[in-house]
Amino acid sequence: MARYSLPDMPYDYAALEPAITGEILELHHARHHAAYVKGANDSLERLAEARDKGDYSALVGLEKTYAFNLSGHVLHSIFWRNLSPDGGDRPDGALADAITEHFGSFDAFKAQLTAATTGVQGSGWGVLAWEPLGRRLVVEQIYDHHGNVGMNTTPLLVFDAWEHAYYLQYRNVRPDYVERLWDLVDWADVAARHTAATSA
Ligand code: MN
Repeated sequence: MARYSLPDMPYDYAALEPAITGEILELHHARHHAAYVKGANDSLERLAEARDKGDYSALVGLEKTYAFNLSGHVLHSIFWRNLSPDGGDRPDGALADAITEHFGSFDAFKAQLTAATTGVQGSGWGVLAWEPLGRRLVVEQIYDHHGNVGMNTTPLLVFDAWEHAYYLQYRNVRPDYVERLWDLVDWADVAARHTAATSA
């Protein structure tokens, strides 16, 4: 039984051109994201089999595979919604105030998230997240999909730094791709996630 399913894209694959080509977006959603959904469902199924048999010899690998694929599913589901053909500019309201409070200025925040995304070693993500214990915004740098994050943080804005996200168009120049991402950010979506996280 499938527990997770691939969400529809909120816009056409070509909608983010010229910043991101339709070819990249289609492969990214229909192949890469779909594979994470399948991987999460498959690992849950294999965990259920292990329980039924009382055989946990493969447990360590299954837990790791589940964490990787579930996190990939979660992050991509947020990523599509964080972007919009009508995005760009800067946030306003409570989110803008919180960014200034926790990073000093929007420009300082932008520089840190840009550095976190462009500086990922190998595959990963740059993320703006809400950290509920200290009740503050933080920038995190995720390895793969599930490493190097503080427990219980809530991702609000995620930038995919995997080569599959840009290499067909930007080749090895990840900074150019990240610079274009800022022109696509749907701040209304980020602000709604911020409101939900802070009031939870
Ligand atoms: Mn990706």
